[in-house]
Amino acid sequence: MKTTPEASQPVPVKSRLSRPRLATSPRLTETRKSTIHGLGLFACSNYLPNARVIEYVGVEIDKQESSRRCQAGNDCIFHLDGQRDIDGNVEWNPARFINHSCAPNCEAELIDGRIWIIAKRLIRAGEEITFNYGYDLDDYQDYPCRCGSPAPLGYMVASELSDYLRIKLQTSTPY
Ligand SMILES: [Zn+2]
Repeated sequence: MKTTPEASQPVPVKSRLSRPRLATSPRLTETRKSTIHGLGLFACSNYLPNARVIEYVGVEIDKQESSRRCQAGNDCIFHLDGQRDIDGNVEWNPARFINHSCAPNCEAELIDGRIWIIAKRLIRAGEEITFNYGYDLDDYQDYPCRCGSPAPLGYMVASELSDYLRIKLQTSTPY
């Protein structure tokens, strides 16, 4: 009987225990070059609507540390509760590569104190995973969007603000 190298190779207990769980699981997502921006996260399998695609992990920080890091330009911080936020700008969080889209296929949800990226519709293997970053209108010019969705607004703003910004942009056009 053929044994897998995994089973036949003796491995120090310490290294087995410290090995991240994801390393031995089938890859469900992968990071590669995106047409939206830089690197993106892509589905390696199909996902049904409402499926949990990936957890957004990171380090827990208090609100004071959070605003310090936000001001320093960290765009990977998520609200967790009244006291704590999650800074996902860590090497072990592949979800930090997920790009914004104005017509996203996922959304971030807080479930039992953990942040999950949830499929909003059927996602096919090979599709780029996206969600709406939900930015407000402060400094929207600093966040141009190249998601290429059918009705592009040109900026990464929360979906509930997009109509407002569209009207604002139309009326402030100088010609
Ligand atoms: Zn967009």
